[in-house]
Amino acid sequence: MVGTGKGAENGILIKDAESLERAHKLEVVVVDKTGTLTEGKPTVTDYLTVRGTANSNEIKLLQMAAAVERNSEHPLAEAVVNYAISQGVDRKKLTGVQDFDAVTGRGVQGVIDGHLIQIGTERWMQDLDIDTQSLQSQRQAWEQAAKTTAWVAIDGKAEGLMGISDALKNTSAQAVSALQKMGLEVVMLTGDNQQTAEAIAQAVGIHRVFAEVRPDQKAAKIKQLQSEGPNKNRQVAMVGDGINDAPALAQADVGISIGTGTDVAIAASDITLISGDLKGIVTAIQLSKATIANIRQNLFFAFIYNVAGIPIAAGILYPIFGWLLNPIIAGGAMAFSSVSVVTNALRLRNFQPKGVR
Ligand SMILES: [Mg+2]
Repeated sequence: MVGTGKGAENGILIKDAESLERAHKLEVVVVDKTGTLTEGKPTVTDYLTVRGTANSNEIKLLQMAAAVERNSEHPLAEAVVNYAISQGVDRKKLTGVQDFDAVTGRGVQGVIDGHLIQIGTERWMQDLDIDTQSLQSQRQAWEQAAKTTAWVAIDGKAEGLMGISDALKNTSAQAVSALQKMGLEVVMLTGDNQQTAEAIAQAVGIHRVFAEVRPDQKAAKIKQLQSEGPNKNRQVAMVGDGINDAPALAQADVGISIGTGTDVAIAASDITLISGDLKGIVTAIQLSKATIANIRQNLFFAFIYNVAGIPIAAGILYPIFGWLLNPIIAGGAMAFSSVSVVTNALRLRNFQPKGVR
């Protein structure tokens, strides 16, 4: 009770007291990228068309892409729509899309005036046999700059490329290094492409990356990490914000959601970081360690009076010293053990997170 209360004071909502007890045993912390390490507010920063600039086609293409993306709730889709509007596309013209379809982890498509518009990842374009050679060097350069890229294809031909950037939270690198100093392995799990994921991982100091993981594979990756190590039973925490993270949050030994994330993620998690500041994970683990240490001390206080008193009451010292235990002392010890436990538990109120403020 004191531990969960202390958590709340530090912006950590602990829904399940058992998870507070489990957190001190964690060995691996898996973090989602978008919305967890990053702010989750992507913006389009680069846009090029295959046919070159100074072309009315450029705006027309953007308008069609935005019209299709408007049907999606993906954060990247919103970024495309906002960018199109900022470039002068009229919001009212973002209509007339038929046969809209979102391909999980790949992209979106729709038909406008009989033309098939597809917006999505390099991998998807490869699957669709769409040639993406023309802007390949730009794509790689953007991805090395930690940007997510999306192709715009019309009728099976790549016509444009967008670079989408999502700023890192300014506390992410600090939180990762604090976790590593505590001896935990930090792993990134993302649906984004390998290059972008690695660029972000490098910026925050994460050495192990699972990229291009589809939402339905995220929980399996957690299972894989849990079965690693000598005992095949590593304690793994998952930190995520999205609907697609929910199965992984449930699979993890401790699921940690971001308070600014989706309701589904929060519901699937054991612990919620209200502000979204990842340093809360460090605090949660420290709090767990402090709570477990306190529980162990309390077990000592709960038993020591009995361990000492019962044998004396039973007469173990009687043959030597002629000592027995007066029931008044026994009654006093009973009460005193409770007082000791409660007083010691309340000491947890002095808990202060270390090294992360
Ligand atoms: Mg996310």
